[in-house]
Amino acid sequence: MRTLEVKDIVVHYGLVEALHGVSFRIDAGRIVALIGSNGAGKSTTLKALMGLKKLTSGSLMLDGHRIDGTHSAQRVGMGIALSPEGRRLFPRMSVWENLMVGAHTVGSAARRSQSLDLVYELFPRVKERCQQMAGSLSGGEQQMVAIGRAMMSSPQILMLDEPSLGIAPKIVSEIAQAIRRLNQETGISVILVEQNARLALKMSDDAYVFEQGLVIRSGSGQELLNDVFVQKAFLGI
Ligand code: ATP
Repeated sequence: MRTLEVKDIVVHYGLVEALHGVSFRIDAGRIVALIGSNGAGKSTTLKALMGLKKLTSGSLMLDGHRIDGTHSAQRVGMGIALSPEGRRLFPRMSVWENLMVGAHTVGSAARRSQSLDLVYELFPRVKERCQQMAGSLSGGEQQMVAIGRAMMSSPQILMLDEPSLGIAPKIVSEIAQAIRRLNQETGISVILVEQNARLALKMSDDAYVFEQGLVIRSGSGQELLNDVFVQKAFLGI
């Protein structure tokens, strides 16, 4: 199992500083929510954890070892995977082929087939549609494929960027249930970036609130659901 510590990370886009020194931790087997408004720095944080954005300063420690100098392909090998915002599927490839893209670093056919079984078990709709072109699926089904693709590298830390965005409520709750099951049955840690703060806080063990490139609050999901600032800013209470 993996513990990931994010220590005081600063990230730039050109001259613009997007993260000003963000720190938090993901303990093994937890669901961790990152909430906050548009542009607060949540997606940038996931990209930095995945090795898709370089740190200007700060560090990332996986089980006590520094990993911020490694490439994204190496991080996949270390058990980190990202399902990106906007899904980014290949619409003209089949669902099965899209899933296999996520397994391209996995040498063992037995491991690929084990991961595929798990994806199909959690998302029966994906199994039903495995021969269909990904672009012909509904938004919610495509989101399931995107999460499934990230699962295909058999990660220990699965990062999900906005899995509920633009998806019908019924499918959102199917996806939320599948994520919970995955976490409970396999012990995989999940980092959940969500605009839907209520859903994310209900689902999470630990949560962090981002604002303008900083973490401004943290606590258990339940604590933040009861926090007056969070209620006013994100829960419409
Ligand atoms: P959203 O939910 O809208 O994705 P977010 O909390 O994930 O919001 P980020 O996308 O991480 O926020 O954005 C953090 C800051 O970095 C914002 O000020 C944003 O404008 C800036 N930013 C993000 N991507 C880029 C980019 N490719 N080039 C320049 N600036 C960027």
